[in-house]
Amino acid sequence: MARYTGPVCRFCRREGVKLYLKGERCYSDKCSFDRKPYAPGLHGKKRVKLSDYALQLREKQKVRRVYGMLEKAFVTMFHKATRKRGVTAEIFFSRLELRFDNTVYRMGFASSRNEARQLVAHGHFLLNGKGCGVPSRQLSLGDEVVVKESSRQLVSILAARELSRKRPPLAWCEVDDASFKGKVIALPRREDIQFAVKDHLVVELYSK
Ligand code: SF4
Repeated sequence: MARYTGPVCRFCRREGVKLYLKGERCYSDKCSFDRKPYAPGLHGKKRVKLSDYALQLREKQKVRRVYGMLEKAFVTMFHKATRKRGVTAEIFFSRLELRFDNTVYRMGFASSRNEARQLVAHGHFLLNGKGCGVPSRQLSLGDEVVVKESSRQLVSILAARELSRKRPPLAWCEVDDASFKGKVIALPRREDIQFAVKDHLVVELYSK
């Protein structure tokens, strides 16, 4: 399972927006973007006029980095979305949201997508009653995610539950705090995406 392991705060600074990749730190005064709100590197403070292509590329990179995916998996998911009937951007973002690691994060069992990916890979969750350690697994309507009993006292999971109480509840999944259980009750829609994104730029980039 290939993944990026380098520093991530530079992604927020590069995209000029907080991407919330580090859990609790993103809400504290240690956030690098709050302290240095300009692009990384020697010429980071220079104003640059971006071409149309650069705008599309930056938007795509932003989305890809939010979901912590490598280019190959990201573009494959996009092409799968184009083969489905309906609005490509809607289907694409719905599929991104329904990745197992993202769903775990959105249900509040992890404080960031990176942490969710690690917790899933380490086998702390049951999916529909069975162990599943594949972060990229696509969930469907009605799927149930449960934190394994032996993992319910993990500091990271308890801290994530605490943090998630500060976020507004999600329309597409319900979570039962007492039983550490979450269920997908609807398909995520475009407006359920947590961050501002110009999805048409991503579609334009990949449709060339
Ligand atoms: Fe981005 Fe979070 Fe790092 Fe701030 S702390 S720069 S929001 S990843």
